[in-house]
Amino acid sequence: MTTETTKTCKKCGHTSVLVVWQLGHKDTDSVACPKCHEILIEWKKEPISYFVKGSPKS
Ligand SMILES: [Zn+2]
Repeated sequence: MTTETTKTCKKCGHTSVLVVWQLGHKDTDSVACPKCHEILIEWKKEPISYFVKGSPKS
């Protein structure tokens, strides 16, 4: 099952839509801003994973 969330980059202000995956195992990873490559979100040993889907539709 997946859900979506939005995250705004602290560095450049770009807002990304992130897809949240509920995993069956624990994962450690991070997602970078697609514009400036600043870390948008990171997680450690959580049963969750994120990836950037794109920008919110306006
Ligand atoms: Zn950025």
